[in-house]
Amino acid sequence: MAYLICENCNHYWQINSEEEFWVFYMCDECGSLLLYVNSLNEYRNLTKSVPESFKRTHTQKKAERYWRLSGMGHWALPLAAITFASGILLLITGLKWAIILVLAGPTIMLLSLAIMRTGEMRGMGWTKGYVGELIVASCLRRLPQGYHIFNDVHLPGAHGNIDHVVVGPTGVYVIETKSYSGNYIVRGDRWFLDDDLRKEEIRSPSIQSKRNAAILKEFLESEDIYVSWVNAIVAFINSSCTIIEDDEYCLIMKPCQIPDHISRSRLMLGEGKVNSIVEVLRKHSSEVW
Ligand SMILES: [Zn+2]
Repeated sequence: MAYLICENCNHYWQINSEEEFWVFYMCDECGSLLLYVNSLNEYRNLTKSVPESFKRTHTQKKAERYWRLSGMGHWALPLAAITFASGILLLITGLKWAIILVLAGPTIMLLSLAIMRTGEMRGMGWTKGYVGELIVASCLRRLPQGYHIFNDVHLPGAHGNIDHVVVGPTGVYVIETKSYSGNYIVRGDRWFLDDDLRKEEIRSPSIQSKRNAAILKEFLESEDIYVSWVNAIVAFINSSCTIIEDDEYCLIMKPCQIPDHISRSRLMLGEGKVNSIVEVLRKHSSEVW
């Protein structure tokens, strides 16, 4: 039996499975992100209560940008109608050039509908991704003292962002969060969408995570910090992911299983090395816990 806690309202709810967290991740009363814990006792022992630093993440900014675009479409729609109607009126009064307005009206209308649709679809996609990252970040807070969490890490020279990095006594972990919908089959590091309508190979989150692990290892080396291994994890927020064949270099896990996996792994790093990694990663992350 697990619990979801709103730290703002001091409320908690009992839930039966982690999947319920993916649905009720926000407090109904205040809109804060809920915290997932396995027991109330675990909550009392939680050491990570406030982030050390906090900025808007890449995914959040992308989502906001597309919602703004969709908002622009909403504004342009009545404008198109007004252009069209005034064109008609002016034509009636005998102004021939008003035909331009009559033609422009529907064109603007079509354009704004396209903008609205694109904005909404992309906005929804990025929002879903952002929620997934929030859920994983919330789960990671259960890591014990001595572990450091970095969300939305952008390394110099790297193409994309790393969703989460964890650094602690058991090593360095790169976590790629995916909140896809549909059924997936995984064979090694190849991912296949397996729905009634669509069956196709998709861009592999495992390969993406492993690539990010390699980029992070290289970055640390450029800072004169050598670790033998950076672990790759995919946090998959979807119950229907069937793993046919394991990938020994990348684990696929539900978000709330990750802290237990990390804290129970074999010890790898001394305190000095952990601290030096934390120091160099701090300035490249949107959020540090
Ligand atoms: Zn609340």
